[in-house]
Amino acid sequence: MSHETVYAVASGKGGVGKTTTTVNLGMVLARAGERVAVVDADLGMANLAGFVGLNSDSTTLSDVLSGNASVDDATYRLAENAVAVPSGTSLDDYAETSPEGLRDVVDELRSQYDVVLLDVGAGVTHETVLPLGLADAVIVVSTPEPASVHDSRKTLELTERAGGEVAGLVVTRTRPDTDVSYEEIADRLELPLLGAIPEDPAARESVYAGTPLVVHAPDGPAPAAYRRLAADLAGVEVPNERADGGRGSGDRSGSTPDAARNSAENGDDEAERDDVSSAITEAESEQ
Ligand code: ADP
Ligand code: MG
Repeated sequence: MSHETVYAVASGKGGVGKTTTTVNLGMVLARAGERVAVVDADLGMANLAGFVGLNSDSTTLSDVLSGNASVDDATYRLAENAVAVPSGTSLDDYAETSPEGLRDVVDELRSQYDVVLLDVGAGVTHETVLPLGLADAVIVVSTPEPASVHDSRKTLELTERAGGEVAGLVVTRTRPDTDVSYEEIADRLELPLLGAIPEDPAARESVYAGTPLVVHAPDGPAPAAYRRLAADLAGVEVPNERADGGRGSGDRSGSTPDAARNSAENGDDEAERDDVSSAITEAESEQ
């Protein structure tokens, strides 16, 4: 089962769905039994903590990179098999952070998890380029908007310069009325199309709720697309939590990967919610 794959989730333009993709792809892979770490490597505009209901005032990757904490200290459990490493959101955190240590952080996480997902910042700064080279594969995220597609080319160029490999393209926030097909967008960028994630009104709500979209509204169009993406990308079987119609029937008494898989198959997303809120409580109680 161990793939030990580090993915960088990257884009040229900001606001296209990288953090949403990192978090939700991570959650569905964890649900399929992979041990997953999602990492906020967007050091300048860190916000992954909010997506998963963690408090960014707690120990973060910024503290690790400034030499004041261990990776373990900045690792928080989100759900069975899933942890997050958030980054600090204040400008002071950023000022003290040196991205150089990211290599060691990634190496450490790689040894502990099957899949590590790095949420990479947009733009062309050093801390954006570094993760592209550290990852085994870069997932390029773009909306169908021409400006976003255009800026994806920069990500491809940067990945090449950083010595990284591109896995392919995920088109996000797609609408049925988009005049350009996603295949065409991928063709233009000469990339394999990994997936297309539809516009989903629950995406924003889930951020306000501090609960990953695939847990917040699992029946929506984007969660279904994230499950397909995970299945295609990692070759895993991703259970649809509502497929057997069972609710509240999951047994979460065990903590082995098998127990996790069983509870996922039983459609126990309530339990996953509990996990996320206990992560919040844990983060808050550390203050
Ligand atoms: P990035 O990390 O690239 O800056 P985010 O993941 O933060 O992008 O997403 C930007 C905004 O778009 C957020 O408000 C998010 O809720 C919203 N969003 C992301 N994916 C979708 C989607 N599939 N449908 C609707 N809104 C989305
Ligand atoms: Mg982001």
